[in-house]
Amino acid sequence: MQPSPTTTDPGRGRPAAPKIARVTCADLRLSSVEQMLGLNEGDVDMIRNFGTVIDDDAVRSLVLSTRLLGSREIVIINHTDCGMLGFTDTEMEQRLRKETGRSPIAPARFYSFTDAEENTREQIQKVRSHPWISQEVPVRGFVYDVDTERLSEVFADGEAVTG
Ligand SMILES: [Zn+2]
Repeated sequence: MQPSPTTTDPGRGRPAAPKIARVTCADLRLSSVEQMLGLNEGDVDMIRNFGTVIDDDAVRSLVLSTRLLGSREIVIINHTDCGMLGFTDTEMEQRLRKETGRSPIAPARFYSFTDAEENTREQIQKVRSHPWISQEVPVRGFVYDVDTERLSEVFADGEAVTG
């Protein structure tokens, strides 16, 4: 079926022009957060990984999103009940070594964590301290509560505020 000529599909025919780069967990329960933030899908550069981690690859995407594509804000959204809360990196490594009998060179880390709010604060600081991400780009962090479906903003050096 052909879309009508007046239909705007942000995914087709136009170069990407994101307003916000969003780093978030791959967890599907986070899929409705765009609506909560009042954003259209076309406004968001989505960077997803397990555990909402600012790792080498997330930094690469954030640098390109802000420097090349023009994203003007970075939003990091972690969540409660994340699968990355249930183990330590060492436990996972030992388990995989035992199950496979192999010790590969990568991944060097799994980035498991114990506290979503604290973890979010750490990720904000990692972004904020990167020399290739402009200080003029605001970096905001949130924790999405999967039970109450509410977002709490996390500040780099303070308490979370439920919005
Ligand atoms: Zn998660």
